[in-house]
Amino acid sequence: MRLFDTARQAVVPFEPYENRVGMYVCGITPYDSAHLGHAFAYHVYDVITRRLRADGVTVQSVRNVTDVDDDVLRVARERGVDYLTLATQELTLFDTDVRDIGILAVTSEPRATQHVPQMVRWIEQLVAEGFAYARDGWVYFDTGMLPEYGRLSRLDAATMITLSRERGADPDDPRKRHPLDFVLWQVSGPDEPHWPSPWSEGRPGWHIECSVMSTGELGVPVDIHGGGDDLIFPHHECELAQCEAAGVAPFVRHWVHVAMVRYEGEKMSKSLGNLVFVRKLVEHTSAATVRLLLAMHHFRESWSYEAHELDDAHARAETYRSATASGNALAPDAAREFKHEFLARIDDNLDTPGALRVADDTATAILRSTASGADAVAGDSVLASMLDIIGVHFTRALPESRVPSDAA
Ligand SMILES: [Zn+2]
Repeated sequence: MRLFDTARQAVVPFEPYENRVGMYVCGITPYDSAHLGHAFAYHVYDVITRRLRADGVTVQSVRNVTDVDDDVLRVARERGVDYLTLATQELTLFDTDVRDIGILAVTSEPRATQHVPQMVRWIEQLVAEGFAYARDGWVYFDTGMLPEYGRLSRLDAATMITLSRERGADPDDPRKRHPLDFVLWQVSGPDEPHWPSPWSEGRPGWHIECSVMSTGELGVPVDIHGGGDDLIFPHHECELAQCEAAGVAPFVRHWVHVAMVRYEGEKMSKSLGNLVFVRKLVEHTSAATVRLLLAMHHFRESWSYEAHELDDAHARAETYRSATASGNALAPDAAREFKHEFLARIDDNLDTPGALRVADDTATAILRSTASGADAVAGDSVLASMLDIIGVHFTRALPESRVPSDAA
């Protein structure tokens, strides 16, 4: 398989070592429902997983849960519930939403609050080695100690400062030595959860969480590390910095980032009130239609959700369904050729739009086919084996993700 790697800025071969792949994808902050942006990102990692598994590769997939965070605490306060209760409720809803569109269950879903002592130890090491400093109970990573900071995102300092401000950091924090220094540990407010540490009763910063949980769950190097492309900076840049400073290198073999989904041209965000929720889409259409909508877009290209695209996806689903139900067969050469072409498109940097065009041709060929005889191949099985790679299933059987053994 060839995949774009953010660090190298190129489409390069991705080869599993010893038939195993460890994949860490940054997960949700559980305070709101899964929207189309989440669905698109997790769909992409699901396609990677399914494609690798089709070749017999064992994929260990980890998706973390940021269950202590300003947003979780704020929403818990607003709703008058305990923040962990809120996180558990929202996580259950999220898991149901992604499962309902056929996204395979991950191997593990570690929660930040269950790994705080490891984070404290990691921060202690960074402080001891001079890569971090404590100020008023807070601890910051000293980006001045790492000249290569910015290497992953390839941004200059001024752009990084602007982006960090837009994305929740405070470059003007007077405790910082440098505006780009980032929080490893923060003092908890009076009504906030807190853990003991050498610096204060506090809580970890967001970036340290993923360094600790990715390397803790998968070891190093992590084969694939992913998330939305808005995580390249600062989140993944900071993760990389912490790991290199702590001597955990190489940290990641292949960085895979998924482009944003917009709504009628604007960024889809809670603050703009333009979120398209997965649950609503599935209720109004079908899981297959939602997955086809997602697969119609390349993971590296930002796209804007337009309702008419859902109609296109629905029409496609109906064509595939008719071909599947036709009972027609394909000549063996044709069946082999279609399958080969489909996989070639997926292996070419996850060209799912191209793969769908092959599936369209396959469905058309099945519908027109008069092939028969002992060596003819059932059309439904040819199409099903392709569509399984993009998580589309037409059978009434339980989706794979509900089978408990799948999580093993
Ligand atoms: Zn993360």
